[in-house]
Amino acid sequence: MNTCAGIKRDGGRCTLSAQASSGMCWLHDPSRAEERHRHASRAARSKPSREVAGLKEEIKTVIADVRGGELDRNAAAVMIQAFRALKDFIALERQIKETESLEGRLEALEQAQANQAKPAGVWRGAHSTHSSNRKGG
Ligand SMILES: [Zn+2]
Repeated sequence: MNTCAGIKRDGGRCTLSAQASSGMCWLHDPSRAEERHRHASRAARSKPSREVAGLKEEIKTVIADVRGGELDRNAAAVMIQAFRALKDFIALERQIKETESLEGRLEALEQAQANQAKPAGVWRGAHSTHSSNRKGG
């Protein structure tokens, strides 16, 4: 099996197996560039996912600094706690956004249903008037 001729983001040789047609893996195949771009832009458009990625990078830095002895373990513990709080807020933010978009969709549905229900309501009203007339007469 051939190895992909592409270069990874960190400058190293790509280690994925290449597809016979292109000599490159799925990630580096030029003919897949557009498809890849679409995936990437979809992910980038979402703010929480960008924040999560940033958070991940920062946590990695903290881990590396602790490992390298550049960062005090207690300070690192506090930082990790702060990262955890941030993560919770990102999750909360996402939940709120999802709820809001759901609420918006529900409102639109309810409005559509209310518009549809109008003729039936008029009919019911007429019917009840009719029956009360009967009772009176
Ligand atoms: Zn590759």
